[in-house]
Amino acid sequence: MNKQITDGRFIGCDSEYDCADIVIFGAGFDGTTSYRPGARFGGKVIREESYGLETYSPYLDRDLTDVKIFDSGELELPFGNTEKVLDIVYSSAKQILSDDKIPVLLGGEHLVTLPAVRACLEKYSGLHMIHFDAHADLREEYLGEKLSHACVIRRCWELLGDNRIYSFAIRSGTRQEFEFAKKHLSPQINADVPVYLTIDLDVLDPSEFPATGTPEAGGLRFNELREKIKTICETCNVIGADLVEYSPPYDTGGISAAAAGKLLRELLLSLNTQSKGIKKHEKL
Ligand code: MN
Ligand code: MN
Repeated sequence: MNKQITDGRFIGCDSEYDCADIVIFGAGFDGTTSYRPGARFGGKVIREESYGLETYSPYLDRDLTDVKIFDSGELELPFGNTEKVLDIVYSSAKQILSDDKIPVLLGGEHLVTLPAVRACLEKYSGLHMIHFDAHADLREEYLGEKLSHACVIRRCWELLGDNRIYSFAIRSGTRQEFEFAKKHLSPQINADVPVYLTIDLDVLDPSEFPATGTPEAGGLRFNELREKIKTICETCNVIGADLVEYSPPYDTGGISAAAAGKLLRELLLSLNTQSKGIKKHEKL
């Protein structure tokens, strides 16, 4: 593993690395954020605020203390060098995957998803991706930059190819992005393929989740997203996941940290369901 700063772990995630089934790692990078920065602090604050939560989920009747999860803290990243940041995220994901554990990445901005997907694809050649976001993130470039959070799904498509990405709840993008999505993304999810799940938290409605760099009205309710995560993890073979774009400077009263932490708990407990081999086919 790369050198890491451990500022405290997410609640209930204190297994040793060697015996863990799931490994959390944080990439607090927001160097390409297009509007308002701050997502670099996201993972740290989600961990701090997690101690206001219970480890037990009444939705799933499962407890984090029953699951072997190692929280490795935040990666140490050279903020001014995007490519080097992505290399560090890539090699960390690669290490976790080669040790047969499920990587769960905490952003940071959405661009950090790209190297995690690359590492997952090298292990699982049939990889598909499920993408929750307010934004299409399908631009060819943004302000001349190909490595931008506004282009991250386009870059992932270049790796995965046609009909391997399913985007959910998108409500913002250029006409070209929506046309591209119709042509190249998948209208439905395949149940029996390895899936990387990326959750850009701005998919939630800003009334319930205001603390993000690029808020967009008309989003999902918290409980809708929570249910979708549960269903996806029960239905698909989720082999890696991330939670990105939480930006603490815009979090009045810690509302968004409470939501992000609770979603992370539900995701971690749902992934465990998957690792126990429970598979049901439900329509999303
Ligand atoms: Mn995004
Ligand atoms: Mn977004």
